[in-house]
Amino acid sequence: MPDKKTSLVEISHNAGVLYVVATPIGNLDDITLRAIEVLNNCDLIAAEDSRHSKKLLNHLGINTRIVAYHDHNERQKAQSLLDRCKLGTSIALVSDAGTPLISDPGYILVKQALEQGIKVEPVPGACAAISALSVAGLPSDRFSFEGFLPAKSTAREVKLHLLQTESRTLIFYESTHRIINCLISMLACFGEQRKATLAKELTKSHESIIHGTFKEIITWLETAVERQKGEFVILVEGAAETERTRDLPDDEPLMLRLMQDLSVKQAAQLAADLTGKRKKLFYNIGIQQPK
Ligand code: SAM
Repeated sequence: MPDKKTSLVEISHNAGVLYVVATPIGNLDDITLRAIEVLNNCDLIAAEDSRHSKKLLNHLGINTRIVAYHDHNERQKAQSLLDRCKLGTSIALVSDAGTPLISDPGYILVKQALEQGIKVEPVPGACAAISALSVAGLPSDRFSFEGFLPAKSTAREVKLHLLQTESRTLIFYESTHRIINCLISMLACFGEQRKATLAKELTKSHESIIHGTFKEIITWLETAVERQKGEFVILVEGAAETERTRDLPDDEPLMLRLMQDLSVKQAAQLAADLTGKRKKLFYNIGIQQPK
């Protein structure tokens, strides 16, 4: 029950445990001994896609019951799983690949479990972002995981613009369809000097890890169509001191860029949504621009 004064929630020891279990991101041998033990001994496996996870479970000779746990019915499904947990059922959450919740479903389930006093235990393992960071040769003491960028080019460029002066190493996920456009947007935003790493198909037979500038990486991808197919992590060196102290009127270039595609009103709204600043501030910048 929640403690009214401190909002601490006491963990129920009669309930089952919710295990958050990392699975391989390519090479099926990248599963930990503890993950195998938990998947074997828990009462139920909640999988992002049960058919997908069944292949891994068959490979490991695990027969534990499996149920689907999708993003679109997450809230409802989470509660029915947690109701079972409260009666003593131990559940292992897995996603299609890597660590659940990292650009994958599971956040609602974990949040609701904690609110309801159910013990949540991590069973750590593979994660594409961390695997890529470990071999990128970019500063790894501070980094910012940005996940997938927006699909639409305007929103993507605005998001990148907001990261232009970020000094930490940036980590992005990207898929086959948008990889080239995404790197072109990055080149336009971060410039020709920034170092980057493209980590493709990590741990799989066609693993490639390319280090260079955006131009060099784009050229590498364009050399052969097959190179553009697969799963990618893009890592970008953080902004140098000189870039961060550049005297840029930050809000103005953002508005100017948005106004190339949108009306002043729409641009002001999008800029406000993305930055958390007041819409009026951007609107005023917009109406002051020469026609
Ligand atoms: N939960 C996963 C994790 O822990 O990394 C990420 C799931 S997210 C839906 C899938 C994205 O992760 C892919 O589009 C790609 O950007 C990245 N990814 C997953 N596996 C990868 C791999 N083997 N090599 C490179 N990137 C990968």
